[in-house]
Amino acid sequence: METPQNDALRTPTEALQVILAHAERLGTQSVLLPQALGRVLAEDIQSDRLLPPWDNSAMDGYAVRSQDIGAAPLPVCGTIAAGHPATEALAPGTVLRIMTGAPMPLGADAVIMREDADEQDGQVRFSRVPVPSQHIRRAGEDLRPGDQMLPRGTTLGPGEIGLCAALGRLVLHVTKKPLVSVVATGDELVPPDRLPEAGQIVNSNSYALAAQIAEAGGEARLVPIVPDDPVVMRAAFADALTADVVVSTGGVSVGQFDYVRQILRELGAVECVAKVAMKPGKPISVSVLTVRCGAVERRVLWLGLPGNPASSMVSFELFVRPALRAMAGHAQIARPELWVTLAREVTPDRQRLHFARARLVRREEPHGLVLWAEPLAHQGSGMLRSMLAVSALLHIPPGTQVLPAGTQVRATLLCQGLP
Ligand code: AMP
Ligand code: MG
Repeated sequence: METPQNDALRTPTEALQVILAHAERLGTQSVLLPQALGRVLAEDIQSDRLLPPWDNSAMDGYAVRSQDIGAAPLPVCGTIAAGHPATEALAPGTVLRIMTGAPMPLGADAVIMREDADEQDGQVRFSRVPVPSQHIRRAGEDLRPGDQMLPRGTTLGPGEIGLCAALGRLVLHVTKKPLVSVVATGDELVPPDRLPEAGQIVNSNSYALAAQIAEAGGEARLVPIVPDDPVVMRAAFADALTADVVVSTGGVSVGQFDYVRQILRELGAVECVAKVAMKPGKPISVSVLTVRCGAVERRVLWLGLPGNPASSMVSFELFVRPALRAMAGHAQIARPELWVTLAREVTPDRQRLHFARARLVRREEPHGLVLWAEPLAHQGSGMLRSMLAVSALLHIPPGTQVLPAGTQVRATLLCQGLP
């Protein structure tokens, strides 16, 4: 790792690289299958069985010997329901009713669907001659013993969870979720259940960040509001350090009462990012702290974000989310990026890369599908409104030329899938 360069102005890409170099993969734990959604496998899952376990019917219909089917009606000698295998083989010249998922009886080599049959008084005629094997799901056509199904590092979605259930795996070995302390600093802050008095505002950051943490697969722990008072801060910060990661907001800029960096230094933090050339944001202080508990030493990553609500949320997206996903072992840590078309002109910042909050609108145009980006009107870093229904962060490079509507810009996709 390079020597930390305090106060160096980093590009967002550099800052992310430095942060990821400190985002160590967490240990593992066992979870019950119903709690495994979104977790990352810490073991390889292979099949130990055949699926389907036996040949079975893919249709509600009749189990037949294909060579017996002709114009003459055949007697129906019984019914095989799902879960109730036939006790006897299919006798030549007869058929059995069979339901979807029921085991094929010995002797049958095809299934004719109910819709192609006319049954009356225990006799059935078919409107089609079957092809041997039709509508039979063969034993093991989905899974066979020894098939490598899910390598470690797989993120568990609904399909993966269904597969684990089918393999009888009710307990899975996964990477731990990062536990994240959320620390809001500021003398002006009151909790949402208090009516703000003169000069006070409600702490909204902790709640927005807790939601972002949950969405990123972490577990948030809200620390009570910390005033801009070094003594209180020292104690509260030490308490916050019991987590894997701390995300704080406020107090990292150059204001007279911005004590966060100073207190972290006193606690032995090594700061690796102090400022990032971006808008919204810029003062972002990332440090690594070593916490000792008896003979055990742990490293805690501290991400000090700006206090302005939009700045803290955008910085979370760019820096904290990837770090949490890396710690949780996800193979895919970054959001997808794609090119979109500006629906309105945008004036770039002169010096800083602007992550403009935008809504994407998909339109069919004569030459194909176009993703139009509508930058939100309220881009102020203090404006909560700018984070409502945001589907993308547009990367507007610094410059002096207005980007006209129709310009292609790179965008980080924040929504799941395309709008
Ligand atoms: P700071 O980064 O401490 O200088 O704060 C920048 C701005 O963000 C100020 O207007 C603060 O009042 C506001 N702010 C700081 N923390 C929070 C918070 N937890 N919730 C909402 N606004 C905040
Ligand atoms: Mg402050």
